Amino acid sequence: MKILIVEDEPKTGDYLRKGLVEAGFVADLARDGLDGLHLALNGDYDLIVLDVMLPSMDGWDVLQTVRQSGLTTPVIFLTARDRVEDKVRGLELGADDYLVKPFAFSEFLARVRTLLRRGKSQDPQTLRAADLEMDLLRRRVSRANVRVDLTAKEFALLELLLRRQGQVLPRSLIASQVWDMNFDSDTNVIDVAVRRLRAKVDEPFDPKLIRTVRGMGYVLEVPEHP
Ligand code: CA
Repeated sequence: MKILIVEDEPKTGDYLRKGLVEAGFVADLARDGLDGLHLALNGDYDLIVLDVMLPSMDGWDVLQTVRQSGLTTPVIFLTARDRVEDKVRGLELGADDYLVKPFAFSEFLARVRTLLRRGKSQDPQTLRAADLEMDLLRRRVSRANVRVDLTAKEFALLELLLRRQGQVLPRSLIASQVWDMNFDSDTNVIDVAVRRLRAKVDEPFDPKLIRTVRGMGYVLEVPEHP
């Protein structure tokens, strides 16, 4: 079993690697986000241990890029911050577990073993938010088990919103990702498409998932207090 540790704090990184090797694992250590991302994408790991605060690219971005590339390797987040919103964000981005520093090595090892047993449990073919489901393989969307028909652009727009759940997406980003165009503030093509999408996947249902953030863009998230 091969484990990647991405941790910039030398003491913690060395300590974790040493501990994992003594426990019988093969363990590599990356000391910044970009190195970690490169290794994660190319190293064929069974598990990734990922610190949140990292130089060159933070753990959120590493995880997001890893998941967007379709890799389902289990990820444990390590962080000094114990704020619940960090935990939620990590899990939404596709982390499988979360440990707040400082932690006991025995606790860490137990989580590692649990995740390795569980293996690649995520289904990369389905994106979900509340009762909204997108089947990427069959190109189907349903809400509360009701099939929703979308145009190709609406599908692409919803896929982007679902993959970046909880992040406010500026119109310029939506324009470049979905329409492959530079954003021109005179055009309302994005607002029109979002309105149509909402009419199909949000308006007949509860809770409302797609939110306009005035002056910034759009976000898809499951409301905490619907
Ligand atoms: Ca750090």
